[in-house]
Amino acid sequence: MEEKTVKLDDIVSLAKRRGFIYRGSDVYGGLSGTWDYGPLGVTLKRNIMQLWWKMFVEARDDMYGVDAAILMNQKVWQASGHVDTFVDPLCEDTVNHRRYRTDHILKDKGIDPAGMTMEQMDAAIVEHGLKSPDGNPLSASRTFNMMFQTHVGATMDEKSVSYLRPETAQGIFTNFKNVVDNFYPDLPFGLAQQGKAFRNEISPRDFVFRSREFEQMEIEYFVHPDKWQESFEALLRDIHEFLDALGLPKDKVHELEVPEEDRAHYSKRTIDIEFDFPIGREELLGLAYRTDFDLGNIQRVSGKSMEYTVKGTNEKFVPHVIEPSFGVERALMAVLSTAYREDEVNGEKRIYMAFPEHLAPVKYAVSPLLKNKPELVEKAHEVYTMLKKKHGNVMWDDNGNIGKRYRRQDEIGTPYCVVIDFDTLEDGTVTVRDRDTTEQRRVSIEELAAN
Ligand code: ATP
Repeated sequence: MEEKTVKLDDIVSLAKRRGFIYRGSDVYGGLSGTWDYGPLGVTLKRNIMQLWWKMFVEARDDMYGVDAAILMNQKVWQASGHVDTFVDPLCEDTVNHRRYRTDHILKDKGIDPAGMTMEQMDAAIVEHGLKSPDGNPLSASRTFNMMFQTHVGATMDEKSVSYLRPETAQGIFTNFKNVVDNFYPDLPFGLAQQGKAFRNEISPRDFVFRSREFEQMEIEYFVHPDKWQESFEALLRDIHEFLDALGLPKDKVHELEVPEEDRAHYSKRTIDIEFDFPIGREELLGLAYRTDFDLGNIQRVSGKSMEYTVKGTNEKFVPHVIEPSFGVERALMAVLSTAYREDEVNGEKRIYMAFPEHLAPVKYAVSPLLKNKPELVEKAHEVYTMLKKKHGNVMWDDNGNIGKRYRRQDEIGTPYCVVIDFDTLEDGTVTVRDRDTTEQRRVSIEELAAN
């Protein structure tokens, strides 16, 4: 059968139908840019996040985890530049007042906005006679700050202003000194954090790809200023290893060396890792060399030294930093779109999710062949309990006939379905059916237990 190009709608509808991802606040008509994870989605997401933590933190001697508060002192965002410069260009439909990201308007019409100033984008809109999606003239652009602002405490004044963090990175930098004082790691070393980030995106779109509330997995890797290149290369290799472990095909992963005019002014090198999503080639994650920009800002605004003294020497400096920054939702979308398959079994269309076994939300589904035969049900429960104790993510499934159960498990990406039948009672073997090949094997319960 010809390989099908996966469409975003296929993924969105399967995610909803099978309990992976729902629209946020769905019963009330939704809240744009927010998504809720159902029972299978939360497990898949956690499996991705745990794999990342295992590979980047637990398996290494040079990484330390932190978990900082989402609400931070407003000085954090003043010092980091977010209050002044964390902005997107916004233009407005002059008739119905709908608002759009100017760079998205250009991109959607095949004009690359990379490296353009806001004025240049406006000029391009005029030059090409671009209109809003509703066909109306567009206003000139203005900047729009993407941070969600709130107040901490009972007084609503300037001093109580705080923000929902737009990135997890600053919670790492602000703990740099604490960790150095407590652990005094040798350079290079990294601090890692996973958690929620919030951005008031002008036009959230493409399912979870551009959300207003999402999760990041970030590392700040502190290095000697003269030795950043080797750590940059090493982290790039580690990133590819992680993407391999997610099961992403190498030919869909691309490195985009960001040219100087598109990089942040403090960054000497940035690589965006892009992925061929169903919506096209887009940023999956970033790797940036940020010099001493962040620690330097903290030192300047807080008045506290961020210098590091090399052990046994008098050599002192503010370390430079390399930042791999992953978005969980984008990794999840890459995993979902890679796993989505359609084929034909016994003349019928079948949809299945070919998740790598270590990411699958359910590893085994266990069923008795017939649910009205107590001896089969009892034996199946024994096998179920045994597997559940060992793997945790095991599902009991006795609904409908075996064919229906297989289809359901295929759609949620369960690698193995275990069926207990009358032969099991005789010889202690079960049928194990493979999701990808649909082949069935007889396996003894002992062998299953040892897997
Ligand atoms: P984009 O250009 O797509 O808006 P960005 O360059 O602003 O992304 P960064 O600030 O570098 O993104 O954030 C690091 C990572 O966080 C991104 O590579 C992406 O994986 C994730 N991310 C950023 N914004 C969002 C969002 N609105 N929804 C989901 N993930 C996001």
